[in-house]
Amino acid sequence: MIKHLYIHIPFCDSVCPYCDFTKRVSSPETQKIYLNQLLKEIEYNKDSFNSLETIFIGGGTPTSFIYLKELLEALNTYIDLNSINEFTIETTPARALDYLSLYKKYNINRISIGVESFDPIVDKYLKRKSNDYESVKEVVNTLKLNGISNINLDLIYSLPFQTLDSIKKDIEIIKELDVTHVSYYDLIIEDKTVLKYDLDHKKISLPTEDESVKMRDYINDKLDELGYKRYEISNYAKSGFESIHNMSYWTLEDYLGLGLNAHSKVGNKRFFNTNSLKTYALFNSKAEYEAEREIEECDLKVEYNILGLRTIKGVSLNIYKVLFKNDLLVDYPFVQDFINNGLLEIDGDYLRLTKKGLDLGNIVFSKFL
Ligand code: SF4
Repeated sequence: MIKHLYIHIPFCDSVCPYCDFTKRVSSPETQKIYLNQLLKEIEYNKDSFNSLETIFIGGGTPTSFIYLKELLEALNTYIDLNSINEFTIETTPARALDYLSLYKKYNINRISIGVESFDPIVDKYLKRKSNDYESVKEVVNTLKLNGISNINLDLIYSLPFQTLDSIKKDIEIIKELDVTHVSYYDLIIEDKTVLKYDLDHKKISLPTEDESVKMRDYINDKLDELGYKRYEISNYAKSGFESIHNMSYWTLEDYLGLGLNAHSKVGNKRFFNTNSLKTYALFNSKAEYEAEREIEECDLKVEYNILGLRTIKGVSLNIYKVLFKNDLLVDYPFVQDFINNGLLEIDGDYLRLTKKGLDLGNIVFSKFL
């Protein structure tokens, strides 16, 4: 039973220097072709929409898609959108209000805004527009005035030109804005990005590891003090506002992904669409579309553990036993070593990362692979 639907919109107004997501700046003609293919995918999958609880339109910047209205109209013909519990759309501060009337009309009740940083010096390098406090405040207040109070801000730490002081100011702004959810990611240097090029050519530098640790600790402590409970390594929410859609990924629930490079998990199978817009534009029948999707090899045991340990609650030992017919600690004897080293702990039925383990999660995850 599929309860979660993801739709990918791969278009942005410009390309940020650190970003390696599936996205591009495209002409209206290309966007029209993309819409047509998405509408076909929606039609081919319509029988899977009966039990949906969440929808997430991500990107890219979905609100820079000039055919967003047509996409929502199509979804509305197959899905009772009023019955969707959590309907999220990703956006940027500059584009967040472009489709305000559609949010209400189609029951989009959660807005995720990619801010990354409020610091003008950092933003200058990132080439982000309208990321200043006043602009974002206007967006947040307008959304709230229009009945949308479930708002996430995406931020990044360890960015070029960022300091502990700028993180402190960013968190003061979060406090002022009083949003329900914050995602705070550690910067990842991806290959083939402008950021990687600039670093390799010594045009910029990053905060030192020591500075990064101070930033991370400050973020964790301060957000907690402000009432944002950390429920996943990079995600913090006011009580009751944890993202249901994102939790479905970490707890191995089934979800369907539509659009370029969108991934799906249905039962024990994982599959994904091509990441080539040219190839995506080609399918003309359900058979061609299904033939194009690639099956992804996966080890559900490993995924259950790694994804589950990303959450603060951790993984249920009982559910593991029911699913995989053995004890987790028997299948993975090294877990006991991590418990002895203080990176993992058992609390009742749950195995989870300790406070120290949350900061060193990659060491634990890599051992499962
Ligand atoms: S707006 Fe978001 S998806 Fe688009 S390039 Fe920037 S970070 Fe990437």
